Amino acid sequence: MDELIQLSAAEQARRVAARAVSARELTQAYLDRVARVDDHIGAYLTVDGEAALRQADACDAALARGVEPGPLAGVPIALKDLLVTEGLHTTAGSRILEGWIPPYDGTAVARLRQAGAVILGKLNLDEFAMGSSNEHSAYRACKNPWDLERVPGGSSGGSAAAVASFQCAAALGTDTGGSIRQPAALCGVVGLKPTYGRVSRYGVIAFASSLDQVGPMTRTVEDSALLCEVIAGVDPRDATSIPAPVPRYRDALADTGDLSGLRIGLPREYFAADADAAILDAIDRARAVYSQLGAEIIDVSLPHSEHALPTYYLLAPAEASSNLARYDGVRFGARQARPGQSLLDMYRETRGAGFGPEVKRRIMLGTFALRAGYYDAYYLRAQKVRALIARDFARAFERVDLLLSPTTPSVAFRLGEKTRDPLDMYRADIFTLGCNLAGLPGISVPCGLSGDGLPIGMQLLARPLDELRLIRAARAYEREVGAVSEHGVPTQRPPEVAS
Ligand code: GLN
Repeated sequence: MDELIQLSAAEQARRVAARAVSARELTQAYLDRVARVDDHIGAYLTVDGEAALRQADACDAALARGVEPGPLAGVPIALKDLLVTEGLHTTAGSRILEGWIPPYDGTAVARLRQAGAVILGKLNLDEFAMGSSNEHSAYRACKNPWDLERVPGGSSGGSAAAVASFQCAAALGTDTGGSIRQPAALCGVVGLKPTYGRVSRYGVIAFASSLDQVGPMTRTVEDSALLCEVIAGVDPRDATSIPAPVPRYRDALADTGDLSGLRIGLPREYFAADADAAILDAIDRARAVYSQLGAEIIDVSLPHSEHALPTYYLLAPAEASSNLARYDGVRFGARQARPGQSLLDMYRETRGAGFGPEVKRRIMLGTFALRAGYYDAYYLRAQKVRALIARDFARAFERVDLLLSPTTPSVAFRLGEKTRDPLDMYRADIFTLGCNLAGLPGISVPCGLSGDGLPIGMQLLARPLDELRLIRAARAYEREVGAVSEHGVPTQRPPEVAS
């Protein structure tokens, strides 16, 4: 494999800025890689090589004129296909949006472009980001590069798989209940879910608006810091975006050798849930690394943790049922009626063919929960429990600065293993949902391999807007265990899939 494409995004940006490599050469190297391996993996839904090379040439021309390079100048990045991209096919993994060419860029995408990034294409996902395995994609299966018989996780499965298999320098995903952190853990990459409101949701196809958040999926912690710095910040087009200045996250990386004074909490309830023994062992070793670095480890309790799953799976479908009402076959999902076909028949056909079973299930659940007469018993009660869950975290963060836990209860499961039992699939998120319900930032960092050689992720959570501390602690661990080389090449990586 070409050495260039294994470097971190930050290192690639440095080399492009120094004109040691051209943006075109780098972009072409990734396009070649995608052409060679993605038939086996299925990470991409759309690749626009021509547009990518045009962006790369524009970047090289600007550099030749002496224009100051942006922080991501010439770096090839791919996007979960839930992010709206001007002139580039956007599907949300659903047939109902098939053929849609958006007339605008979402804010996170626009900010990547402004920073000089080259957009390679759009990545596979569970339909409308509903799922934990990418198996609910209406287009094609996406496989875990570590084992092609296993899922990459979801819903940002394509993003995790593409980053892990060196098919882009970095990617964006979205996280409503774990969809950045869970696939990051299953594919052995870094996934950062920023504080709710830290990154604009403008141009992010809505799933559950009070939970959705965009974030980076990368091979190194430095790259997560870099991308977060670029995409974060208030946006007049999203009233829920937070008007707080964006720190220079990368500055947190300069001095991370000593963590004395840092208090890390272990939430008792997360360790009592039945996670795989190999995962608990890996987290225990991470805990030991942190104490060695000087952090103080403290037991804490999040007493309402067991209610996070039912609360989330009530609130998220309720919001989804409202958000998805716009796909009515008229404004979106419209088709031409065939000659002689009545509009009503065309409408029925479109609706039927439009949504997959998981999306229909969520709409039914959400519509039921919001029905007059049931509202108090379900939606209102879930909102109250959500407040209790948020209060648990606030109390824990009076005693500690960060929380450490596994990201997932198991390593990547087999394709088809959980598709028959939706509840079994939902349980893949037990450790990630609480963070979204409370609006906190969280990161998943690779922390070793299971006996079968499958990646394990550890999750760190922080107070709202405390991404800086999260990134600092994640980098300290990455450096201490030597997870990446000096130039950001991961020391552990999936086997090659193509000859
Ligand atoms: N797996 C969860 C769900 O299906 C979370 C999805 C997400 O974060 N987008 O709702």
